[in-house]
Amino acid sequence: MADIQIPDAIKPVDGRFGSGPSKVRPEGVEALSAVSRTLMGTSHRQKTVKDQVARLRRGLAEFFSMPDGYEVVLSNGGTSAFWETATFGLVREKAQFAEFGEFGAKFVKAVTDAPFLAEPTVHRAPGGQAAYLTAEAGVDVYASVHNETSTGVAVPVRRVEGADPGALLLTDATSGGGSLDVDLRETDVYYLAPQKALGSDGGIWLALMSPAAIERAFEIKATKRYIPQFLDLVTAIEQSRLEQTYNTPALATVFLAAEQLDWMNAQGGLSWAVKRSAESAAALYGWADRSSFAEPFIADPALRSAAVATIDFAEGVDAATIAKVLRANDIVDTEPYRKLGRNQLRIALYPTVDPSDVIALTSCIDYVVERL
Ligand SMILES: *Cc1c(COP(=O)(O)O)cnc(C)c1O
Repeated sequence: MADIQIPDAIKPVDGRFGSGPSKVRPEGVEALSAVSRTLMGTSHRQKTVKDQVARLRRGLAEFFSMPDGYEVVLSNGGTSAFWETATFGLVREKAQFAEFGEFGAKFVKAVTDAPFLAEPTVHRAPGGQAAYLTAEAGVDVYASVHNETSTGVAVPVRRVEGADPGALLLTDATSGGGSLDVDLRETDVYYLAPQKALGSDGGIWLALMSPAAIERAFEIKATKRYIPQFLDLVTAIEQSRLEQTYNTPALATVFLAAEQLDWMNAQGGLSWAVKRSAESAAALYGWADRSSFAEPFIADPALRSAAVATIDFAEGVDAATIAKVLRANDIVDTEPYRKLGRNQLRIALYPTVDPSDVIALTSCIDYVVERL
């Protein structure tokens, strides 16, 4: 099976379809190479690196049409570190979650385990469906996921009607941010990491924060709650304002993300990116709908993500084998999220991925299935 050779003529130009780490544009790596002696290996407390942090923060603000008063905050440790940071620095007492996959569940666990916080309310939905937030007295932080990367379910970013005044909404946009449309006025913290749609490498978290969220961070800090230094959101805010991070960041990650944002902004910004991901999504889901052996995993078309698509395969057509053959042919990371445990492929549709490569991928899958 593994010796099926896919002809070069039908292969995608770039065979990277992973949901994270995801495709990094070769042009970005070439630009990085051009600063190999001037940026790489230099101090993150000096202007050369700070200029790149500034370029990244500006690029994000422009890309997401950041409203007045919002700020771009960043620090080390990726989104996983941001969950802990928010647990210490944004939840005053009680949170409510919409949990519909593995990533949402991790933030729920961080807050549930925190001995200084009340038991959160959690609205759960099984894999492939969405859960939603509802107004609840006493909740000071609401949290949901823009795109649940483990299942391929995407929901709109919308404030909770009837929430207590001052309650914050936190949106995990790690994989949805940059592929899906958003109006930042609808949320207080839109946080992401650079190894998904931002086409960079992992290791840092980025959060676009509203004035209310920034105020909350300072308010909680003033209560003298124990906050580990590394997870101190006020420190992250203050360092970000100085175009630096609390501890040493991966310079290449910062540079590649800034480069990618400049590229996406030059292409037309978020609306361009959303259109490009939607084009890839239409091609992939359209192919699955027409296929006799594949179908979109997400039953409700309105929930089907244009950032990360999940495709189920019919009994007798083994997705794991398809992924293995694709990998042997340099088409990589189409495997599903391991814990979901379905006969499925998962394909990233981030704007970095060329829609024509998604179409080529479907031809390659057809080619492989015919020969299995
Ligand atoms: C990838 C991902 C994360 C985890 O990001 P890390 O930077 O690896 O911690 C969290 N949430 C979502 C929705 C993701 O897709």
